[in-house]
This record gives sequence, structure tokens and C-alpha cells, in this order.
Amino acid sequence: MRRMRRVKIVATLGPASHDEKMIEELARAGADVFRINMSHASHEVLHQTVARIRNVEKTLGHPLGVLVDLQGPKLRVWKFAEGSVQLAAGQKFILDSSDTPGTAERVYLPHPEIIESVSVGDRLLLDDGKLQLRAVKVGDGAIETEVVYGGKLSDKKGVSLPDTLLPTGALTEKDHVDLLEGLKAEADWIALSFVQRPEDIIDVRKIVQGRAGVMAKIEKPQAIERLEEIIKLCDAFMVARGDLGVELPLETVPGLQKRMIRMARRFGKPVVVATQMLESMITSPVPTRAEVSDVSIAVFEGADAIMLSAESASGQYPVEAVATMNRVAMAVESDVNYRSIIRAQATEPEATAADAISAATRQVAETLDLAAIVTYTSSGSTGIRAARERPSKPIILLSPNQRTIRRMSVCWGVHCVQTEDAASLEDMVDRACIIAYQEGFARPGDRIAITAGIPLGTPGATNMLRIAFVRQDGAGSS
Ligand code: PEP
Repeated sequence: MRRMRRVKIVATLGPASHDEKMIEELARAGADVFRINMSHASHEVLHQTVARIRNVEKTLGHPLGVLVDLQGPKLRVWKFAEGSVQLAAGQKFILDSSDTPGTAERVYLPHPEIIESVSVGDRLLLDDGKLQLRAVKVGDGAIETEVVYGGKLSDKKGVSLPDTLLPTGALTEKDHVDLLEGLKAEADWIALSFVQRPEDIIDVRKIVQGRAGVMAKIEKPQAIERLEEIIKLCDAFMVARGDLGVELPLETVPGLQKRMIRMARRFGKPVVVATQMLESMITSPVPTRAEVSDVSIAVFEGADAIMLSAESASGQYPVEAVATMNRVAMAVESDVNYRSIIRAQATEPEATAADAISAATRQVAETLDLAAIVTYTSSGSTGIRAARERPSKPIILLSPNQRTIRRMSVCWGVHCVQTEDAASLEDMVDRACIIAYQEGFARPGDRIAITAGIPLGTPGATNMLRIAFVRQDGAGSS
């Protein structure tokens, strides 16, 4: 199965989509990675869903990525005596440590460690920012606030604290258990919610120990303040626009998205743009013009992947949503301005052999109009460096490592194929040409570029660029 676009599509699975037939339909429509949201999925559902994804992968003969998204320290108020209350602007409202049912004057906040870290003047945003409170007094296990924007507040609504550095790490007890379960299920990516500090990534890395890629979800202002450090430490990251748009003024999110995509390319870390990309398709078979424009902006900018949340997890049109993203991405990538926009954001290669070879390979492939760039990689890092160049020619990533092949399904422009390590240079050239031919990227008489590390099979040792002819039998000669 060959995709006719470079950007990847992440589809969240949920009640509307987690049966095997639907997963297959979504993959056929264009989904490259499936996200399982641990805010909603039980461990049973997690294992069952991963097994179904792996079955579909076998049926299609095409690698699929699994992204397990941890809930993170999502704060919530507790319950009200009447299920909800109405808060009016200007009134006082208290969040305290008493686990009795809430009233229009107070409610239980079951996070004692949070209460102590709020300062007078900090904002508390409730129910995705629909209500806003400001702390006027903190102490004795309670936050006394004044309501800035009122409205209806009901049981267990979320609380965001954009001005407060939370004393907790990004990993709660539930996340820890879910993370271990995700690793047991052989997830390819673990996404960490509400990252605030570089240490959050370091802590998770210690547990994951390379068994999955670590994806940082950027959704807190505190993470924006230390963005470079966080990006350098993670394997990939997500522009989690849902919570980001609650914690920061909405109008700053598009600029931040651009900044983050450019940073991702500079550091060679895959970036996923997420949330509300085709929101109206939860209930409609067609998107709005604004949504199509939003998806296009992420693709023009060179994001690695674009993501669907409720559209594919619980919406009425999951397949249509994936198919729409697929069509929009293909239209953008064949637009007359696409290449020049992508090239304008190119960054200098770093002073490493892998980067120098990747940059040279892009140049050679475009100058000689080669059919494809084939890159041998064991960890996937050379594939990411090749993709960082955003070449106009297809990249075929070859690896003996199934984990690498699956993990790279989130990375821009790489078509991944699992193959044994080549036995010799000649075997490597032949194998690259045969796969480029069999996968439909090259015809007899075409030339391809091959990059690898010599001696073969040495991780991180990319040091070779070769040009080869595809012969009539599909094999190669250089
Ligand atoms: C987001 O906030 O944009 C996001 C992707 O996180 P979640 O859907 O887990 O809230």
C-alpha cells in the first residue's frame, strides 16, 4: 500500500471506530497511526484495540503506528449537591478540601497539592475556559476566588491553571500504570500530557528505556517557556491545541503552531498538529471551509502528521474525516506553491555525517531527477534526518527492525519497508532497487539514491551515498 502524500494522518480510535472492520477502513482511507486515548480506554480495550490494529496491519501488509496517549494530571472539581450550579460574575466562589457535595458558594477540589501552589491573582479556568475565576485568597486548604466570567458549572468539570506551575510531574499514578500497560501492548509511541518541564520527559524516558518513542504534548504555557529544552529531549511532540487554547489566549495558538513546526524541522523531531482540525465532521459528512484551510496550513508548513480526535473516535463520519484529510493533504502537496513554501523553511544541516549525507542526497536526487531516496536505518534516526530535508523525491526507509518501521509511520514522507540487513554492498544496492521497483516508486531504467552506514547494520553510522540504476529485472547496478 503506497500513500500518495507525504504528511501522515493520526486517527484517534474510540466507540465509533475501534472494531476491526472500521480500523481497516480507516487505514485504507489514509490513517497511518492510531491513537488510543487513555482518558477513556480501559486496559482491556487497549489490548484488544492494539491486537485489532496488528491484524489489520497483517491484512494490508503495511506498517501502522500505535500511539498510546496518557491522560496526565487533568484537574477536576468534584460533584455538586444538585449536579450543577450557576455562577455569576463578581460573586465569591471557594474551591476547598472538604469532600462534601458542592453548592453555589463552594466545591471540593480533590487535589490538595494544587491548592497550596496557587497564588493570589492566578486564573482558574473551568470547563475548557468557559468560566473564569481569579484567586483572591489562598490558605487553610482552600482557594477563595472571584468569578470573572460566570456560567453553569457541573460535576467533575476540568480546571486549568495557566498561571500556576503545578508541583506534580506530568505522570500521575494512573499514567504510570497505563504507561506500563502501553509498553506491554508494544505501543510505538507514548504521548505524555501536560508536560511542563524537561524533567517530565527525563522521568518517562527512564521508565520507557527505548521501548517506545516518547511524544511530548505541548499544551501548557510553562512548556512553551522551555520549549527548546523539551523538544531536544523528546522523540516527537504534539501541538495539543485543545488545552493549549484554554491555557493561552486562542489567538496566540496559530503563531505558536508555526513556531513549533519550524522548531520541529530545525531539531529533526516529528511534530503532530492536533485537535479540532475537522471538528464539524463529528456530525457532518463535509467539513467547513475554515477547517479545510486549517488542515492545509499545517500541511503547507510541513508538519509531520495531522490528527483527528473526536472526529474519528466518536463522530458519525470517521472514514469520511480521514478521507477528507487525505484529499486535502494531496491537494496541498500538489499545489504550485507547496515546494517553494516547504523549501523556504529549510534549515541548515547539523555538523554530523548523517545530516551532511541527507542534505547531499536531497540535492543529488533533485538535481538528477532520481526516482527515490532509499535509506537503510536500524533505529530510524537516519530516516528522520532524511525527512528533515523535506525532499521532493520519495523516501523509502528500509530497516530490519519492525519497531522502527512502525514508529516511523508518524514521520513526514517516509515509506517504510521491513527487510533484512544487506549481506554486502552489492546486496544492498540490489535490495534497494528491488524494493523501490516492487513498491511502485521506480521503473526499469530509473535511478535511485541509496544511503547507509558502512559497515552495514551499525546504528547511527550513516556515511555512504550511492546512485544506482534499476535494471529490467528490478535489481540494481551502480
Ligand atoms: C489537546 O488538548 O489538544 C489534546 C490532544 O489532548 P487531549 O485530547 O488528550 O485532551
